[in-house]
Amino acid sequence: MHHFEYRHNELHAEDIPVRQLAAEYGTPLYVYSSATLTHHFQAFDSAFGTPHLTCYSVKACSNIAILRLLGALGAGVDIVSGGELHRALKAGIAAERIVYSGVGKKREEIRQALQAGILMFNVESMQELESINAVAREMETVARISIRINPDVDPKTHPYISTGLKKNKFGLDLIQARAAYRRASELDCIEPVGIDCHIGSQLTSLAPFLEALDRVLLFCSSLRDEGIQLRYLDLGGGLGIPYNEEDPPHPAEYGNALTERLHGTDITLILEPGRVIAGNAGILVTKVIYTKETPGKNFVIVDAAMNDLVRPSLYQSYHRIAEVSPQGRKSRAVDVVGPICESGDFLAQDRAFPEVRQEELLVLFSAGAYGFSMSSQYNSRPRAAEVLVCGNTSTLIRRRETYDDLTALEENA
Ligand SMILES: *Cc1c(COP(=O)(O)O)cnc(C)c1O
Repeated sequence: MHHFEYRHNELHAEDIPVRQLAAEYGTPLYVYSSATLTHHFQAFDSAFGTPHLTCYSVKACSNIAILRLLGALGAGVDIVSGGELHRALKAGIAAERIVYSGVGKKREEIRQALQAGILMFNVESMQELESINAVAREMETVARISIRINPDVDPKTHPYISTGLKKNKFGLDLIQARAAYRRASELDCIEPVGIDCHIGSQLTSLAPFLEALDRVLLFCSSLRDEGIQLRYLDLGGGLGIPYNEEDPPHPAEYGNALTERLHGTDITLILEPGRVIAGNAGILVTKVIYTKETPGKNFVIVDAAMNDLVRPSLYQSYHRIAEVSPQGRKSRAVDVVGPICESGDFLAQDRAFPEVRQEELLVLFSAGAYGFSMSSQYNSRPRAAEVLVCGNTSTLIRRRETYDDLTALEENA
């Protein structure tokens, strides 16, 4: 369900004209819809007819207000750093609803997570397992863990967001994973409670998920034969969303398919959705600074850039772009680019787009996931503001950075 709609030829975020938000908060501006976030979370979470915990992937969109909103709906979270743990705890997420993934957890981060009492670590290497055991021993506690399996399944997505292939840095193959479980069951301060895999992001078909699940289930049953009983199966995130013409499975289809495979087992499923919750719940609003026609190309130069939304530059990804108030002028091919001094700084290339003029407002759709959370200050550009809309009220959930924010941490600032 979308809560970004045109009414009387003016784009609205729920009940507020986007033009009004741009006037109030400036541009570039991230705008999120709380109704869409709620709808996406509930549609996903209600899709599973089996005991489960939906752990929203914090890195997709990490604002505390958004974590708090999802937490109030019953979400747990998947974190990948001590910083994300800090955010999750600040947002009031209960520690027993937090799982911790990532290949490079440092001892200090492990300590913080144990201190908080998180549900489990998703362990990605033998050395990490030993580190967690050592830290838990120092703290006189026991760490619950899953081993992250690399099932060698091709998710058929962009190479940078494939994670479950042999050549990827994530998880352990089945042979190494077996050794890790054997070792885990010997270690005093480790309790193996689950198994984990996350094969990639923006998947647009169910087959790779089911293939991965089958491999994990088979592996689980062989572990059971060795006396290693697991209660949790974490299938990660990765369900895709429509950016353009993609037609990914609906969460209900995904949920039904997984539920069917798990029927009759006593396993608690953990899911780590990010993009499918936040992606289409956010837009990026930007203003045309200049238009420029050259013999080679027509450029629309806007005030949002790759530092605000890196996905087009990093993954050649597509974001639908439109006018906030469509003027009905004729279309031509343009590159929509930002002010950054890199040729890789584009938001769209060779896109058929209506003629636009200086100061007009444009919108990039599907910018809620991996948008603000991947933004930077490159070219000393203060990061955009973030606003959360609920009906006819808007709340500034992160103010626009100032020039003083840019230099605040530097010597003699
Ligand atoms: C990024 C990530 C996710 C979320 O992926 P989406 O494609 O946004 O659903 C889940 N789990 C892990 C371990 C991740 O790294």
